Amino acid sequence: MQRQLQQIVQGRETSDGAGVRIKRTLGQNPYSRFDPFLMLDEFGSSSADDYIAGFPAHPHRGFETVTYMLQGHMLHEDHMGNKGHLRDGDVQWMTAGRGIIHSEMPQQEHGLMRGFQLWLNLPAAEKMKPAHYRDIPSAEIPVADLPNGGCIKVIANTAFVGGKVVSGPIQGLTTEAIYWDVHLPAGNEFHHALPEDHNTFLYVYEGEIAIGEDKRKLTKGNTGLLSKGDQLSVQALDTEARFLVISGKPIKEPIVQYGPFVMNSTEEIEQAIQDYRDGTLAE
Ligand code: MN
Repeated sequence: MQRQLQQIVQGRETSDGAGVRIKRTLGQNPYSRFDPFLMLDEFGSSSADDYIAGFPAHPHRGFETVTYMLQGHMLHEDHMGNKGHLRDGDVQWMTAGRGIIHSEMPQQEHGLMRGFQLWLNLPAAEKMKPAHYRDIPSAEIPVADLPNGGCIKVIANTAFVGGKVVSGPIQGLTTEAIYWDVHLPAGNEFHHALPEDHNTFLYVYEGEIAIGEDKRKLTKGNTGLLSKGDQLSVQALDTEARFLVISGKPIKEPIVQYGPFVMNSTEEIEQAIQDYRDGTLAE
């Protein structure tokens, strides 16, 4: 059964960190999550004023953050002593687990900085596991040509392209998350199988696309939540389209969020706040 475009979450301009301008789709409010996904932001500006203040030291607990840099240069530093430079095409996959304190600071003073940050929830059993962080340079992320033109970059999980298996660097997540970046020339189609019951959404960052049999349209800067089904069909419309395909197994647990802490109960949130005050959130 083909997946259809069921709901559009329009990107909304907002600011976060020390005043970084972002476009937020998922996560604008508690009703615009899509289990297991909590939030999706696009940051993109050629004006340094919009990003230069960055995200000074702040905590996270209970989920994962995935940063995919299209263009620019950002430095991550955390309490474990990790230092990571994110540049064009690089990905950072950070599992906050029981707690991480980090900063994300632009290292450029001019020019375009553009990318995405996705928040992926963790099941209760993994919310308090040790923090883990991984930088994945662009060169380690496979990009495969699609049979009819265009390409697919496989960041998480696996894609099947022209009879070949293309495995991304991130594998084995409990949520079985898929994270692909697909580029399609004008008029071209992309077809791929997906696990039937996983929640899947698309985010268009260039051009516009038509989804499924009824060809409902999704335009740049917006997220489309798809119906359930085992087949994905997307067509690029009048210009080249670029979009993210993000899919995962729903966790189906209660969510209580307080800013950068995402847990299952109010008590656990109070504990996170207390631990942060006591300096024991991340150690
Ligand atoms: Mn952060």
